[in-house]
Amino acid sequence: MTASTIRQIKQQIGQLTNDESNNQLPSFWFTDWLLHVIDKPAIALMTDEAYQLTDSELAQFNAGVVKMQQGIPLAYLTGQQEFWSLKFSVNEHTLIPRPDTEVLVEQVLNWINAQPTQLSNKRLLDLGTGSGCIAISLAHELKHANWQVVAVDLSSEALKVAQQNAVSNNVANVEFIQSSWYQALSIYDEPKFDIIVSNPPYIDETDEHLAHLTAEPISALSSPNQGLADIEHIIQQAPQYLRTGGLLAIEHGHDQGATVRQLFLDSNFESVYTVKDYGGNDRVTLGQAQ
Ligand code: GLN
Repeated sequence: MTASTIRQIKQQIGQLTNDESNNQLPSFWFTDWLLHVIDKPAIALMTDEAYQLTDSELAQFNAGVVKMQQGIPLAYLTGQQEFWSLKFSVNEHTLIPRPDTEVLVEQVLNWINAQPTQLSNKRLLDLGTGSGCIAISLAHELKHANWQVVAVDLSSEALKVAQQNAVSNNVANVEFIQSSWYQALSIYDEPKFDIIVSNPPYIDETDEHLAHLTAEPISALSSPNQGLADIEHIIQQAPQYLRTGGLLAIEHGHDQGATVRQLFLDSNFESVYTVKDYGGNDRVTLGQAQ
């Protein structure tokens, strides 16, 4: 872009996002990126239209526009994504938190609130924590209720990001462990968990949708066996780590609800049900261990 005031850039963003050949990136990606570069609040788009970007701001803005057009998501440029009204750092080692995953957090909190008696040991496990968004949002909500959260990930790089996010969100009740799913957890030394949550990779390796997600770690997105291999492993092992009556809550693909419910039933879970995301698609299945 050659424009150098906010007003001119807004006009060019309008043209850019109307152009159908432009991969249809949402216009807020460009305006949010602009605000990030000039370090101004959103209101500046209305009140500060005459603001002239400096040469270096313009160069940084333009470089980011090129990257977004090449498929780098906004969150990787700003290094941040909001989730559950908290701010999370993200990088290329972590999946970018999706609003749909907030449904998982919401359901777990509903389940806790619906328990007839106070839980005794209050232990929660998050498998494949990535940026830590699920574990940290839950730990944040449960901070004053003495919950102990354990969050695991195979990627040490992701764990570094998650640990930073726990600090920046003032959450101290989460322990991070490098582990392939349950592998590094001892089934004997610790009491069992009350809750296990996970947003595992679940996209089929041949799904066309993956072509739009090239910037994010493939290990966090895609799984063999029609996207079900990791989900199946997590469900089958869960009864060993859950106390009787404990909750398993798993995010999955929009067309995996029925299969995932069956996997829960095959592993002896009861009260199994699926909840839809904000787009009306099956997204989270929950069940209680017997
Ligand atoms: N829900 C994400 C998507 O389809 C994928 C997240 C995941 O695989 N866990 O973009």
